Amino acid sequence: MHHEALDLSRLQPALPSPLQPAEDERFARHGVTLLLKRDDLIHPHLPGNKWRKLAPNLGAAAGRTVLTFGGAYSNHLRATASAGRLLGFPTVGVVRGDELARRPLNPSLAQCAADGMRLHFVDRATYRAKASPEVLDGLLSVFGDCAVVPEGGSNALAAQGCTALGGELPGTVATVAVACGTGGTLAGLAAGLGPEQRALGIPVLRGGFLGEAVRDLQREAFGGPSGRWSLGERFHFGGYARTPPELHAFADDFEERHGLPVERIYVAKLLYALTVLAGEGAFPRGSAVAAVVTGRPWPPDGDRGPSLYAPSDSR
Ligand SMILES: *Cc1c(COP(=O)(O)O)cnc(C)c1O
Repeated sequence: MHHEALDLSRLQPALPSPLQPAEDERFARHGVTLLLKRDDLIHPHLPGNKWRKLAPNLGAAAGRTVLTFGGAYSNHLRATASAGRLLGFPTVGVVRGDELARRPLNPSLAQCAADGMRLHFVDRATYRAKASPEVLDGLLSVFGDCAVVPEGGSNALAAQGCTALGGELPGTVATVAVACGTGGTLAGLAAGLGPEQRALGIPVLRGGFLGEAVRDLQREAFGGPSGRWSLGERFHFGGYARTPPELHAFADDFEERHGLPVERIYVAKLLYALTVLAGEGAFPRGSAVAAVVTGRPWPPDGDRGPSLYAPSDSR
């Protein structure tokens, strides 16, 4: 089948994203400068790392149907569905949780469907086995020729796409910190930084599997370890989408101090972690730390309370 090449520049991403100083006495007191790397401003529908990870994958898909995976509130599914609508290629979202098929669509999945994504619900066991040949072959036999993009959009192309994020941060920024789901953004960011810089990943999931995931992604994308990175594993607040009142209070206060809308699943945990680490003296005096703002609250002005996310939804 012949496909027109996709013209991703039609989406007009705002790149490089702005790097803004944030005056915060909790950092200044320790001689540390906090900067916000505003990747949330790259594109209204493909913000942050979703743009950086999807762009090379959509280029490789070249207009074929893109089939990908996500949970009930996946930012990645919404970004993929929007890209499909804006650029005119078909999308299929394989969604974890067959019980979701029997309920009205939640706002996130409704947005995906409104953007033309075909939603395919699978039970959790099937979802866990999504990378196996049996499950993949089954999906391709239903949906035909597709470009398959893994959960969260993280593969070698995605990690390569995120090296540009590292390249946009001047060498004067010693530490660049990012919240991690699958680790694709961290893998690419670390590889794109200069030799004197380091990346710090804050996993928002429990389980301690992320180091291995980042090493695997770097091996696939760069042939081996690349750049300096470490993980701060103390800040997941119990797991994915667990957002206790203490975290909301911190995020509300940060919004007030800095006028930054703080996304609660990832970005709030990152900013909380950096504030605690600065208080512990973890960053050298006179150094600058950049927080990558990977996304924005969704829905834009809706209820961001924990009730929006099923607490049992561990991933
Ligand atoms: C998807 C997402 C992440 C996680 O990125 P990974 O590459 O999967 O680690 C972080 N922040 C936001 C806002 C996201 O939507």
